[in-house]
Amino acid sequence: MTSEYRICTRCIMDTTDPDIVFDENGVCNHCHDHDRLMKQKVVTGKAGEEYLQKLVEQMKRDGRGKPYDCLIGVSGGVDSTYVAFLVKKMGLRPLAVHMDNGWDSELAVKNIEETLKRLGIDLHTEVLDWEEFKSLQVAFLKSSTPDSEIPSDHAIWAVLGDLADKLKVKYIVSGFNVRTETHLPRAWSQGHFDWKYIRSVNQLFGRGKLKTFPHIGFFTYYRRLLTHRRVDILNYIDFNKAEAMKILEQELGWRYYGGKHYESIYTRFYQGYILPVKFGYDKRRSHLSSLICSGETTRPAALSELDKPTYQPSMQEEDREYVVKKLGLTDDEFESILNASKKTFWDYPSYGRIIEGPALKFLYNIGRNWYRARQKRAHQAEA
Ligand SMILES: [Zn+2]
Repeated sequence: MTSEYRICTRCIMDTTDPDIVFDENGVCNHCHDHDRLMKQKVVTGKAGEEYLQKLVEQMKRDGRGKPYDCLIGVSGGVDSTYVAFLVKKMGLRPLAVHMDNGWDSELAVKNIEETLKRLGIDLHTEVLDWEEFKSLQVAFLKSSTPDSEIPSDHAIWAVLGDLADKLKVKYIVSGFNVRTETHLPRAWSQGHFDWKYIRSVNQLFGRGKLKTFPHIGFFTYYRRLLTHRRVDILNYIDFNKAEAMKILEQELGWRYYGGKHYESIYTRFYQGYILPVKFGYDKRRSHLSSLICSGETTRPAALSELDKPTYQPSMQEEDREYVVKKLGLTDDEFESILNASKKTFWDYPSYGRIIEGPALKFLYNIGRNWYRARQKRAHQAEA
């Protein structure tokens, strides 16, 4: 733990990440991770084009005789909509999947419907059981960890994975992008794929068993790591968000909703209000830091951006009233949630210690090598 306040000399990550470490030049671990991931995962220009071309051909071959070549998750936001635009342009046959957790903004729903209609992409919408999901969201708030977005994040991957299994589709194309989505401290959110953690929080603070909530069990998670393939397509193109937005607006009738991940009312309120007020975490810090490292903004511009409120204070008040009411809480209950002492992922039962242990990593690597060798033989036989 660092006790004295420090901020990175290259990005704007600071000691609000309790695990942050700095090198001798004052550059933080997140910046180093960013550089490493850029080298490992991002291929742009001609090389990116060629890589993607080959991958798309493989996806088409693997999709033969199946209803779709790939699945894409859509939220109505810029990244996922641009992914839909790209896969279609490349001649793939995607199925778009949307999870309705009850918090979609009206604009997000319109964006999804309008853009997919224009692109001619089928849509599968999974609607979560609201009473059950509401109880789980309240349970996470009461658990007092900064992980309240985990139920949604977990469920969307569960829905995608279940559908991929059912339709025998191998590829899930995501809108994750190294350039803009690094610098995420683990202490700010962890346990996304930890079903035991989610179940524990629900048992302790929820109202009943989770009967319909889409989830990924321990073994299913590892099986899918091997059998499904996630393609972070934006890492292989020269992705420029501003340009992408212009294309979406002009060609697909898409409209901007005013902030990263603000297409969901809960996400907007959670990131823009609960996280900074209760935990002192400002997710813009991560996002802007990634943008600094990828050269899309400057450090002074990012710092002055942070001086502004997360979003309009009048809207924050409106959202607070809306969220508290929709979750079935009273204002006093919500206030005591905000004031409760802070906890972390490690305060609750989870698979965390097993997953982080050396035994599982060892076994997983053996399993992965065996599976890859088998796949390679199958591909060679095919060719
Ligand atoms: Zn840094």
